[in-house]
Amino acid sequence: MALESQTKITFCRICEATCGLEVEVEGNRVVAIRPDPKHVVSEGYVCVKGTRYPSIQNSPDRILHPQKRIGTEWHEIGWDQAISEIGRKLRELSHRYGPDSVGHFVGSAGGANVLSPIFRSALMRGLGSRRMYGTGTCDTMNKFRVNEDMYGSPMRLAYPDTEHTEFLMILGANPAISGTTLYHLPRAKERLAQIGRKGGRVVYLNPRRIETAQPGEHIFIRPDTDVYFLAAFASELIRSGGVARDRVERTMKGLDAFAQTVAPWTPERQAQVTGIPAEVLCELVRAHGRASGAALYMATGVNQGRSGTLCFWLLESINAISGNLDRRGGTLMGEGLMDMAREINKDPQMKVHYARKDGLPTVSGLQPSGMLADDILGDESDRVTALIVEASNPILACGNPDGRLTRALEKLELLVSIDLFRNEVGSLAHYVLPVPSWLERPEIPYALQSFAGCTPKPYMIYADPVVDAPPDVRPEWWIYIRLADAAGVTLFENRLASVAAKLYARLLYGPLGRFLPNVKKIFDGMLEKAGLPGTSEMAKNHPHGLLLPENEGENFLGTDRVLTPDARINLAPSSYVEAFAARVEDLYREELATRDRIKLIGKREMRRMNSCSSNSEALVREKTNYAYLSPGDAARIGVDNDDLVEVVSRFGKIEIPVRVTSEMMDRTVAIPQCWGHQSADGLSHARKHPGINSNLLAGDGPETIETLSGMSHLSGILVDIRSVQTAPSRER
Ligand code: SF4
Repeated sequence: MALESQTKITFCRICEATCGLEVEVEGNRVVAIRPDPKHVVSEGYVCVKGTRYPSIQNSPDRILHPQKRIGTEWHEIGWDQAISEIGRKLRELSHRYGPDSVGHFVGSAGGANVLSPIFRSALMRGLGSRRMYGTGTCDTMNKFRVNEDMYGSPMRLAYPDTEHTEFLMILGANPAISGTTLYHLPRAKERLAQIGRKGGRVVYLNPRRIETAQPGEHIFIRPDTDVYFLAAFASELIRSGGVARDRVERTMKGLDAFAQTVAPWTPERQAQVTGIPAEVLCELVRAHGRASGAALYMATGVNQGRSGTLCFWLLESINAISGNLDRRGGTLMGEGLMDMAREINKDPQMKVHYARKDGLPTVSGLQPSGMLADDILGDESDRVTALIVEASNPILACGNPDGRLTRALEKLELLVSIDLFRNEVGSLAHYVLPVPSWLERPEIPYALQSFAGCTPKPYMIYADPVVDAPPDVRPEWWIYIRLADAAGVTLFENRLASVAAKLYARLLYGPLGRFLPNVKKIFDGMLEKAGLPGTSEMAKNHPHGLLLPENEGENFLGTDRVLTPDARINLAPSSYVEAFAARVEDLYREELATRDRIKLIGKREMRRMNSCSSNSEALVREKTNYAYLSPGDAARIGVDNDDLVEVVSRFGKIEIPVRVTSEMMDRTVAIPQCWGHQSADGLSHARKHPGINSNLLAGDGPETIETLSGMSHLSGILVDIRSVQTAPSRER
């Protein structure tokens, strides 16, 4: 008998765009995913990763029961056994080596899970460990650092007012392919193009002519030289009288120190290393000044360079001193369901602090992921011996020079992977614990979007699970509570709350579970506290989202929402001024000396979201990723399409086939990251389409970490390339 088909409304949680979806379900199986034309912001837009998610949801490779590795064999075990063995080991290692010997690593997919962070962090604190790592220090942590120093909290996230701006300059981002980070912009390409149709201007600076700028105004910039461009832009803006003096004097401090810092950087000097002619920069400054509402935005390509924190400081300061911060058409400071920035500030662990012996910072609770291998392989008294990895694949996402991180993970006494699949990290783990997919859990959008309100068109949405989770998988929050129970640690530093949470988790999947309150009550509390309808009413009456009042600006500067001690925006935090003086001239000399060499950058692909989509037959068809070179570089190296090249950095080498494209700037090679699935014994499709892990070319360890925010240097790495083999199709 044919199963009845039903269409359910939800939203995608693969990336921060959180597009509205219609999901066709037969029985308990997802059979198709389409755009939701009625979603209040995405308005019928989705990308291929969303519509082809059924191939991941229904994959035969999904882990459906906890697994334990004995030698090289995997065995399915029950949850009681998994939880008690892992909990016991956590307690034992924590007692033997100290609480910081237990680490946790979370990937970007963890950001879409609103409940997990609450219980993950409660478990780690209960254990007494500060060793939290994550891909945040591979792609965005520099921004949280700057937000804290300039605005008083890591979670004060200014975002461009895309709906009203007349001039938007975007550095190191490709929103048409990868969306936007820390800024919610579904239908990005169309909304950005709309700025031009309304008479405004959008300028993209990137070492590759990105898809978002086709068509569009694009300017090549040499990788990892953005700090010189931004310093010269700021300097020229100040020199040409573009500072909103009244506003700055009333609400900010440090303008003189900021101006002194950038003063040596002229348009001509920056041109020497960026490749952007001085007159082009000056014209951009003039256009920026003429606009009634202008904004600068940067993302991963800049964040991953050696000066990501300084770049974001310069960029935010330009937005601020030009009078565009907190102004319609400029950048706005959102308001979410609660004042997350203020709440976070009550927790000293979430403020920038220096608990590590090497002096590297912990930012927003995250230690540098580029130190993970060192921390595992290091000194006996301060070593990570156990690691829980949630929704991540650090082997591919982090610098892994010549496979050093892989070798480090192999040495752990306990490695637990919490995931849908047994990926590369899972293959090395002692235990793999299966979790529901995002279609199987209730949710509101990403915590940053929901609680920091970084969305030009504010709205809220709640979605019930679209299908039931497989019977023997468990949500992350449940796993963390149960592990706390088994390890004998107190959650939330509150004995009563801890006992209640543990009792709830113990009973939930037993015969009494159906009498317990649903976990969505937590979302009810969040929504109702913000004066919004609860989950049932949201799902019933606002399934496509509920639009909230627009942010009109002029609600941040000069108010108590600025959380610095004196409620002023700090334009010149002393650590940045000092770091700029100590580093930038030296790096400039190095840039001048290496102008003829090739630099490596990453590249996002429409069909891949980090390493999460790699096992989808519906998305991944290519057997490998490629090294993208300009025609000029290809001719100099003597290669053409599909030829094999060896790419060598000071950290490692890889061999990879070539694609030649005029999209690339000369002296730049782009290689998509998060490929390299040769060893993933639980990813049958990805293993047949393995590709090459470009992060084998990236470094790790203290020499490669950006010392203000703990960010890894993953973009703009100097490499040498030589031809290894001509493509068989071109051999005579
Ligand atoms: S852009 Fe694609 S991956 Fe991102 S939320 Fe929308 S459908 Fe999902």
